[in-house]
Amino acid sequence: MAEPKDNGNGAVRIGVYICHCGTNIAGTVDVRALTEYAATLPGVVVARDYKYMCSDPGQELIKQDIREHNLTRTIVAACSPLLHEHTFRNATAQGGVNPFHFHMVNIREHDSWVHEDKQAATEKAKDLLRAAVRRVALHQPLERKQVPIKPDALVVGGGIAGIHAALTLANAGKHVYLVEREPTIGGHMAKFDKTFPTLDCAACILTPKMTAVKTHPNITLWTYSEIVQVEGYVGNFKVTVRRKPRYVLEDACVGCLECIEACVYKQPKFADEFNLGLGKRKPVYIPFPQAVPPVVVIDPETCIEFKSGKCKKTCVEVCGDRNAIDFQQQERMEMIEVGTIVLATGFQVFQAKRIPYYGYGTYPNVYTALEVERLINAAGPTGGEIVLRNSERPKAVAIIHCVGSRDENTNRYCSRVCCMYSLKLAHLIKEKTEAEVYNFYIDIRAPGKAFEEFYNRVAEEGVHFIRGKVADVYPDSDGHGRLIVQAEDTLLGMVRKIPVDMVVLSVGLEPQADAQEVRRLFNITCSTEGFFLERHPKLAPVNTFTDGIFLAGCCQGPKDIPDTVAQAGAAAAEALVLIDTGSVELEPNTAYIVEEDCSGCKSCIPLCPYTAISFVEAKKKAWINEALCKGCGVCVAACPSGSIRQNLFEDEEIFSEIEGVLAGV
Ligand SMILES: Cc1cc2nc3c(=O)[nH]c(=O)nc-3n(C[C@H](O)[C@H](O)[C@H](O)COP(=O)(O)OP(=O)(O)OC[C@H]3O[C@@H](n4cnc5c(N)ncnc54)[C@H](O)[C@@H]3O)c2cc1C
Repeated sequence: MAEPKDNGNGAVRIGVYICHCGTNIAGTVDVRALTEYAATLPGVVVARDYKYMCSDPGQELIKQDIREHNLTRTIVAACSPLLHEHTFRNATAQGGVNPFHFHMVNIREHDSWVHEDKQAATEKAKDLLRAAVRRVALHQPLERKQVPIKPDALVVGGGIAGIHAALTLANAGKHVYLVEREPTIGGHMAKFDKTFPTLDCAACILTPKMTAVKTHPNITLWTYSEIVQVEGYVGNFKVTVRRKPRYVLEDACVGCLECIEACVYKQPKFADEFNLGLGKRKPVYIPFPQAVPPVVVIDPETCIEFKSGKCKKTCVEVCGDRNAIDFQQQERMEMIEVGTIVLATGFQVFQAKRIPYYGYGTYPNVYTALEVERLINAAGPTGGEIVLRNSERPKAVAIIHCVGSRDENTNRYCSRVCCMYSLKLAHLIKEKTEAEVYNFYIDIRAPGKAFEEFYNRVAEEGVHFIRGKVADVYPDSDGHGRLIVQAEDTLLGMVRKIPVDMVVLSVGLEPQADAQEVRRLFNITCSTEGFFLERHPKLAPVNTFTDGIFLAGCCQGPKDIPDTVAQAGAAAAEALVLIDTGSVELEPNTAYIVEEDCSGCKSCIPLCPYTAISFVEAKKKAWINEALCKGCGVCVAACPSGSIRQNLFEDEEIFSEIEGVLAGV
C-alpha cells in the first residue's frame, strides 16, 4: 500500500494509541496484537497501548510522541468519542498538532462490549483501526469559532427546581427570565403540607423562596406564560414567550382579593384546579392564598361577562380606581434574547384511572396521594381535616404503593419518592385521625439521608405493612360503604382482605403530557420513559445534547426535593460557567456550500432541523449559518447537485474509511 499523503502537504506521520480501559477493552480485545498490527499500517510512525489513555500519563504519552516523533496525525482507539474525543483533541492540540488531525476509534461500545469472541473482536478492532489510519491522513486542519454569549438566562418552569435555579443565577448577578405556565409559581411542592423525612412545613420553606423570586431585582417573572418558539444556538437564543391574558392587570392588582368576595357568584361553584377538583372556586380566583404573584385570574370559561356580556361586574366596581380588571386584555408575545436556558418543567402524576381494579373514579373514597396531600394541607379544601366524601373521619385507611411504577403494564421504572411520601402520609393520617393505616408495598425503598430512620419511626407508630401487590379493591357487602383491599401477603403466604374506609393510591411520577412538544421546541432528546435526557448520566447529568440548555428537577426523571434542589443548583452553576466565560467555541464540523456547484434548487432549506440554511436571492445560492449548523449531515446527503459538503466528513475521508474497513475482507 502506498504511503498516505495529507493532500499534497507531504507524507503524514501517524501516532496510534490503544487504550485497555482497564479490562473493559483489554478483556476482550488482544491489545498487544492490535498495537503490533497498528505499527505495520502505512504512515504509522509509533503505536502504543496503555491502561487508561484518558489519564494524565496517557495524554502525556501522546504529547511527548508528537514532539519526539514529529507526528502530524493522532489516533486513539478507546471508548466512545462522546466521552473522550474532546480530551484527546486537547492533548493533540497541546502537543502542537491541529486538534482535527486527530481521530477516535470506538473499540469499546462498538467492539469489546458487544462481542465475546476475543479473536473476532481483535480482528474487528484491526479493521476499524485500518479504516481510521486511511481517513485521518486526509483530515484538513480546522479552527473552532468563538461567539459571544448573551448574559441573560431563561428558566422554564417555576416549581422548586426552577425557583432554586433562578435564584442562584440571580444572586450571582445575572438577569433571569422565569417563565411559568400556571398563574402561580410553586409547582407540586406548593400543594404539600409537610415534606419527608423531616416533616418540615412545605409552605414555610417554599413561600419565602417564592417571594424572593418576585422581589428579586434580577428576576423577570412571567407566570401564565409559555414558550412558543426557540431559535438560535448556545449563547444566542431568541425565545418567543406567549403571555396569556389573566384579564387582570398585574401591575395594578394589589392582591386584596375583594373582587373574589364581590363576584356575583355568592358561593364558589367551579372545580378548583389547584385543589384537584376537591374544592370549588369562583370565576375570579387566586390559586392559593400564598400564590406568587398575588394576582387574581379570571376564567373566561365560567365568567358571566365573557359568556353573556350581561354581568353586573361587581368585581370591577369593588376594584375602584385601581382599575385592575380588564376584560379586553389580549394574549401578547414577548421576544427575549438569552445565552443559556434551564428547563425545569417538572412532572405529572400517573393517571390512576389507567388501573381500573383500584377503583379510582368508581369508588368515591379512593384518592390519589396528591389529593390526600391537599386534604392534609391546612390551606386545603377541608382546612386540613382528613375526611371521607360524607365528611366522616376514616377509621381504616389503605395506602397502595407503586401505582403506575415498577409495573410492566404501565411504567417499569421506580418513581423514587412514592415509598417515602407514602410513609409520610401514613404518619400524618394516623396522627390526624388515629385510623388504622395499612401500607401495601412491593419493597420499601428508603435510601436517602434519614429515610430508613423515618421508616422505622412510622413502623413503631403502629402503621401496618403488608408485603404484596394489591389485586383488587371492591365494595364490602356489609352495607357501610367500606372497601375491601385484597392482596397476597408474600411474607405470610396467604391472601389478605382488609376492610377500609379510604384507599390512597401512591401514584408514580411521569413526564409532563407535553414533554415531547417541549423537547422539540428546545431541540433536546427524551429517554425511553419520556423524561428529558441528560447528556451523560455520570459526567454531564444536567447538560443536554444541545449546548447551553440544562436540566433541573423532575423533568429529567423522578426525584425528591433535596435532589431536585441539588440538581437545580448544578444546572445554574453550569449556566453561570458559560455566561462568565463570555464566549463559546463552536465545533467546526459544519456543512458548507460549494457555491459554483449550487443550482439554487432550495431543496436543502426545509430539510434542515436547525433552520441553519437560507437562500441568498442576490446570488441565487443557498447559504449555511455555521453558528446554527450542528453537522447532522441531512443537507449533505440530500443535495441533488452534491454541492453541500461537511468539514470532517468530506466524501474522500468517508470513502477511504470505508475502503479501509473493507480492505481486510
Ligand atoms: C404526592 C407527592 C408527594 C411528595 N412529597 C414529597 C416530600 O414530602 N418530600 C420530597 O422531598 N419530595 C416529595 N415529592 C416529590 C416532589 O414533588 C418533587 O421532588 C418536586 O416537586 C420536583 O420539583 P420540580 O420543580 O422539578 O417539578 P414540579 O413541582 O412539577 O414543578 C414544575 C413546574 O413547571 C411548570 N411547567 C411545566 N411545564 C411548563 C412549560 N412548558 N412552560 C412553563 N412552565 C411549565 C409547572 O406548572 C410547575 O410549576 C412528592 C411527590 C408527590 C407526587
